[in-house]
Amino acid sequence: MQEPGPGDLSQEDLAGFADRFRDWIAAFSAELAPLLTVHSDYDTRVRDARAMRRLLCEHGWGRAGWPEAVGGLGGSILHRAVVTEELFRAGWTGPTVFEHLEIVAPTLVRFAEPDFAAAVLPSFLDGSRAWSQGFSEPEAGSDLAALRTRAVRDGEDYVVDGAKIWTSWSKWADWCLALVRTGTPEERHRGLTMIAIDLSSPGVEVRPIRQANGTDELAEVYFTDVRVPAGQVIGEVGRGWAVAMFLLAHERGTLSWLRHCAFRQWLTPSTKIMREDADRQLGDVVLQLAGVRAAAVELMQRAAAGAQLGPEAAFNKLLMTRTEQNLFNLLRETDGARIALPADTPEEVLQQQEYLFSRIVTVYGGTQQMQLITVARHILGLHDG
Ligand SMILES: Cc1cc2nc3c(=O)[nH]c(=O)nc-3n(C[C@H](O)[C@H](O)[C@H](O)COP(=O)(O)OP(=O)(O)OC[C@H]3O[C@@H](n4cnc5c(N)ncnc54)[C@H](O)[C@@H]3O)c2cc1C
Repeated sequence: MQEPGPGDLSQEDLAGFADRFRDWIAAFSAELAPLLTVHSDYDTRVRDARAMRRLLCEHGWGRAGWPEAVGGLGGSILHRAVVTEELFRAGWTGPTVFEHLEIVAPTLVRFAEPDFAAAVLPSFLDGSRAWSQGFSEPEAGSDLAALRTRAVRDGEDYVVDGAKIWTSWSKWADWCLALVRTGTPEERHRGLTMIAIDLSSPGVEVRPIRQANGTDELAEVYFTDVRVPAGQVIGEVGRGWAVAMFLLAHERGTLSWLRHCAFRQWLTPSTKIMREDADRQLGDVVLQLAGVRAAAVELMQRAAAGAQLGPEAAFNKLLMTRTEQNLFNLLRETDGARIALPADTPEEVLQQQEYLFSRIVTVYGGTQQMQLITVARHILGLHDG
C-alpha cells in the first residue's frame, strides 16, 4: 500500500489532510510508539520531541503549513493545527521546546532577512536545532520597555551584554531570539531591536532554574561581549517592539490551540473515575475548553487568511489560563491522590508537574493583569483615568 502523505495542502481539503494524517499515524504506529511513550524526565521528553520532528519532516507532515522558502511544503497554520491535534489524540504529551515553532518561527518568517530565515528554519522544523525567546530581565517583566541588555554595533557585528531570565527551554535551545537595547533607556520601547543569538557563541552562559514542579524548563541566560553578525537583526534596528508584539500575539493565540489539545488528553481519562457530584464542575471545564477551541480556531483562520494577529490574542490567553487552572482544580478534587501523594509512574509525575505548572500560567507571555489591561485598552477602548 502507498504511504499516506500530506497531498493537497489547499484550505479546501483540510478535512482530507486530517484523514490522510490519521491514516499515516495508523500506518506508522510502530515507529511512533516509542515517541508517544510517556516520560516525565525533561531530557528524555526533549530527545523524543526532536525525534518526532525528524520523523514528521521525513514524511512531509512536519513541513506542511510552512512556506516553501523556509523548507516547508506550503499550506497554513491550520495544517499545523491538524498535526498537533491528531498527535495529542494518539497519546502525545507535547512538543516541549518545539512549542516555540508556533511562536518564534512565524516571527522569523515575517521579519527575518529571507536568506537568514531560509538558512535557519529547516533545522528548526526537523528538530535538529531549537530556539528560545529572551525578552524578560530581572528588572523588566511587565514593564518590558525597561529592559537593559545592550547591543552595540562594532563593524559587521553587534556586541551584546546583559542578562535574561525565565527564558523557557533555553537549556535545550541552540538559538535565542532576544530583545535588546540599541537606543537609549529614555527611548523606552523605541530603542529596542530584535536579534537572533547563537547560544553556542563565546560569552553565552545558560543557568537553568529549578522550578517548584521539579523541572528546569526555565533558565537565566547571560551575555558577556557576545558578537552577533548584524545580518541576524530580525526586523529593523530600533523597531524591535513591533517584532516582540507580533511574537507575543502568536504566543498568546496559537499556543492556546496546542494547550487545549493537551487539556483534552488530561481530562478524558479522568472523566471515567469522576464522581457524580463533580458533574457541574466537569460541565464548566468542558464548556470552557470548547470556548478556548472556538477562539483559537477563529484566530488561526484569520492568520491563515493573511491577517496579522494583534492585541486581541490577549483574550485567547485569558480563556486558556482560566481553563487550565479550572481543569487542574477539577483533577485535583476528583483524583487528588495522583497530584498530592508521591508519584510512581511517569504519568503521575507528569500530572503533578502539570498541576503545579497550572498555578503559574497566569504569568508567562504577559501576566493576567497585563492581558486584562490589553483587553480593556485595545479591545474595549477604555482608557486610564
Ligand atoms: C512559566 C514561565 C515561562 C516564561 N517564559 C518566558 C520566556 O520564554 N521568555 C521570556 O522572555 N520571559 C518568560 N517568562 C517571564 C514572564 O514573561 C514574566 O514573568 C512576566 O512578564 C511578568 O514579569 P515579572 O515576573 O517581572 O513580574 P512583574 O512585572 O514584576 O509583575 C509582578 C506583579 O505585578 C503586576 N503588575 C506589574 N505591572 C502592572 C501594571 N502596570 N498594572 C497592574 N499590575 C501590574 C503583575 O501582573 C504581577 O502580578 C516566563 C514566565 C513564566 C512563569
